[in-house]
Amino acid sequence: MNKDIGEINGACHCGGVRFQVTLSDGLHSARRCNCSYCRMRGAVAVSAELADLRILQGEDLLTVYRFNTKSAQHFFCSRCGIYTHHQRRSNPDQYGVNAACLEGVSPFDFAEVPVSDGIAHPKDNPGSSGSRLAGVLRFIPAE
Ligand SMILES: [Zn+2]
Repeated sequence: MNKDIGEINGACHCGGVRFQVTLSDGLHSARRCNCSYCRMRGAVAVSAELADLRILQGEDLLTVYRFNTKSAQHFFCSRCGIYTHHQRRSNPDQYGVNAACLEGVSPFDFAEVPVSDGIAHPKDNPGSSGSRLAGVLRFIPAE
């Protein structure tokens, strides 16, 4: 898999929401997160600056979900329910983008994905400089 992706198109499952994004560090920034929301959502997210994500279609379909401190905004399609992107709490200048929504990208393409420690969020732990990694998920060979 070529991880050096710059500009790429993305969409939700029903195709109602379409966007174009320029990723900050291609697919190298892929992360999972173990916070109460992400552990249910289960998505692999990659990073982009706010100005680098353009909604091309279906902005009216996007719904936002906020919880806890309400600082992060988690966007999903109100028709098919698929998470497309979220404005980060750790860095509000950034979106996390659902890698699975990107054209030709599958979360199963990643051999391993670091897990951000969203339970011990840096914003809840003053003095901590940034996200620390909680672990790495690895695929194992099928039996
Ligand atoms: Zn949709």
